Amino acid sequence: MPTIKDLKIGQQATVASVGGEGALRQHLLDMGMIPGVTVELIKYAPMGDPIELRVQSYELTLRLDDASRIEVVNVRDCAETGRSLAGIASLPQEKAIPPVNKLIDHPGLGEGGRFHNKKTEHPLPDGTCLTFALAGNQNSGKTTLFNQLTGSNQHVGNFPGVTVDRKDGVIRGHKDTLVTDLPGIYSMSPYTSEEVVSRQFILDEKPRGIINIVDATNIERNLYLTLQLLELNIPMVVALNMMDEVQSNGGSVNVNRMEQLLGVPVVPISAAKNEGIDELVSHAIHVAKYQEKPLRQDFCDPEERHGAVHRSIHAVMHLIEDHADKSAIPIRFAATKLIEGDKSVIDALGLDTNEQETVVHIVRQMEKESGLDRSAAIADMRFNFIERVVASSVVKPEKSREQTRSSRIDSVLTGRFTAIPMFVLIMGLIFYLTFNVIGGSLQSLLDTGIQALSDTCEKGMEAAGVNPLLISLVVKGVFAGVGSVLSFLPIIVTLFFFLSLLEDSGYMARIAFVMDKILRKLGLSGRSIVPMLIGFGCSVPAVMSSRTLPSERDRKLTVIMIPFMSCSAKLPIYSFFISAFFPGRGALVMLLLYFTGIAVGVLTAVISKNTRYKGEAVPFVMELPTYRMPRPKNVGQLLWEKSRDFIQRAFTVIFLASIVIWFLETFSPSFAMVTDSQNSILAVIAGFIAPIFAPLGFGDWRMVTALISGFLAKESVVSTLGILFGSVASLQQVLTPARAASFLVFCLLYTPCIAAIASIRRELGRRWALWIVLFQCAIAWACAFIVHLVTLI
Ligand code: GDP
Ligand code: MG
Repeated sequence: MPTIKDLKIGQQATVASVGGEGALRQHLLDMGMIPGVTVELIKYAPMGDPIELRVQSYELTLRLDDASRIEVVNVRDCAETGRSLAGIASLPQEKAIPPVNKLIDHPGLGEGGRFHNKKTEHPLPDGTCLTFALAGNQNSGKTTLFNQLTGSNQHVGNFPGVTVDRKDGVIRGHKDTLVTDLPGIYSMSPYTSEEVVSRQFILDEKPRGIINIVDATNIERNLYLTLQLLELNIPMVVALNMMDEVQSNGGSVNVNRMEQLLGVPVVPISAAKNEGIDELVSHAIHVAKYQEKPLRQDFCDPEERHGAVHRSIHAVMHLIEDHADKSAIPIRFAATKLIEGDKSVIDALGLDTNEQETVVHIVRQMEKESGLDRSAAIADMRFNFIERVVASSVVKPEKSREQTRSSRIDSVLTGRFTAIPMFVLIMGLIFYLTFNVIGGSLQSLLDTGIQALSDTCEKGMEAAGVNPLLISLVVKGVFAGVGSVLSFLPIIVTLFFFLSLLEDSGYMARIAFVMDKILRKLGLSGRSIVPMLIGFGCSVPAVMSSRTLPSERDRKLTVIMIPFMSCSAKLPIYSFFISAFFPGRGALVMLLLYFTGIAVGVLTAVISKNTRYKGEAVPFVMELPTYRMPRPKNVGQLLWEKSRDFIQRAFTVIFLASIVIWFLETFSPSFAMVTDSQNSILAVIAGFIAPIFAPLGFGDWRMVTALISGFLAKESVVSTLGILFGSVASLQQVLTPARAASFLVFCLLYTPCIAAIASIRRELGRRWALWIVLFQCAIAWACAFIVHLVTLI
């Protein structure tokens, strides 16, 4: 039988069976790749692998190897009328779903309470905090909605236990509420460790309500998650997002009809345009306050596939009723997950051997009667229900303008001959604008300002006859330390600005698509490019974003590589040394340093791939979202968070480090003030370690101290040098350009800063963090030694 691999560009086919096994297969099914669906091959990546497919009216990328496991029938050339919207082809006739009995109120539309039966109503007591989980697919607009709901009343914290950045916020104008923005998921069968967090949050923390955000331009796949959330029997509202796009393309949704079919309130909104948010909030608060459970959880059709799936679900439900009750897992959810074969639910239920065997028999019988295996049968059941909901409540637009625009942009950005030049061009432009134009000029402006302020303070204090010790603390400690770091704020903010544009617009996913084949040679997948690019900004979020990678092995390999990408905190070191030792050759030195970092990272990956981490990267299956204009509000919010973090760091870690170093450098071991810092405590301590660095050409105790302080934060290498040397001239007395080069290489490669180490520890554990620190220091020493040797010759 032909497979997807055999399709030619522009050809369509109907999926006959999805091969493979385990989590990947489940993931493919969850993303809508089920028997009966129509797929269309759109293009090959520039290097011939992976491919881009259209399925369920969205774009998916997958590797040829995996494509060759999906068998197809009825291969045909695409209709002349242009690209047709691929839906489920096998079930054309609409089978009516009986609507649920109760009408849903629209308090926001002035019908508050009309349909309520006061006798069955049990509102939560006033003052109970209404907690909401904001759940939805990736790129469905969660962050945008979250920002609209909470305004600026949000804070970022850690998920207890697992460590994921968690965003909580109070809904504007409703003080007893708390919304949590969860990582995007496609189904309740998690594929990446980030998705595990979302699932565990909903199951364990038991929010009072769920706000399920659904991308209306991609409704079939999004509703797949909705059905699974409904099974949880938690009060819920569906926020139908991106309605502005649906409407402007001539589509529409019969919201009342959809509500009757799903049994929960459905509110059309546009998060980006701030439309419909008030109604969404009042519904969400209403269902949570009155604990109105979804009115429908049963999606199986008793007649479909001879009722096999229907009967098996209900049989399992009866069988496990007592266990589900005891372990507080919603019963319908437990039953479908059991049939899918979800390991963690099987364990949580604690079935005895007899019951487990009964389940196996029920599943086997169902597989025999339905002709589908367990995972495919459940996915098929859900998509059939969705198809009937969509058929009777959604008028699809003929051809979306956004999608047309997207494929036009893609013809350049992922085009066969243009993709890689465009990538280099875009990244080059970003770095050029950041370091030379925008960030660079703002930085020198800020620098001048801080210097002037420092001078004025010094003069003022001298005139007022302030104690010289205090003057020294303020000028040499605080201004030299914190000030020199603070002046890098513009560069860092600019870099994050561009990186967030890449991510929000949807280009980051394309980079992964284009680069997959190269990364595969390193034993990684295209997804790893995202953490690495973020690593040029800061290792901390980069390490955190490695969570989007689906396998432990990929995560470890990626995390090892991240610290070799020059983060923005190392920039102060580079520019400081360039202006002191390599004037006029700044761009060249920068480029060399960046590439050395990348090269060492790549080498490490290749070596690990061939030794400890043998084997192939996990399959690369990813949605390619429609290109969208990033919203200024989202970008603004992100920049504000980054600047706040950075300023906070400057005034906490770096402030403290500056004062400690100033102290150690001003006093002798007997705590007398020293005139020559050669006699200070610091000189004594650093003198011990200095011999290690002598072979590298910088055994001076002040250089060593700078490196130690760089452990706290890379920026403070510069501030420490500033404090200890006072002027560039005295630094030039100690270092030659050749020695400066070896120092720079050491700075580039040695241990990540303490914040990055902490996040590596959170992600991979203590042993890994320690190992990475030692490993990197060793590599840095070796490389700096080589540079030193080469420059000696
Ligand atoms: P998340 O990945 O679910 O957090 O999604 P985001 O909030 O980052 O949104 C993904 C993209 O969709 C962004 O570029 C948003 O600007 C865009 N977006 C979000 N909501 C809407 C909407 O209602 N209409 C339109 N046209 N675009 C939206
Ligand atoms: Mg988001």
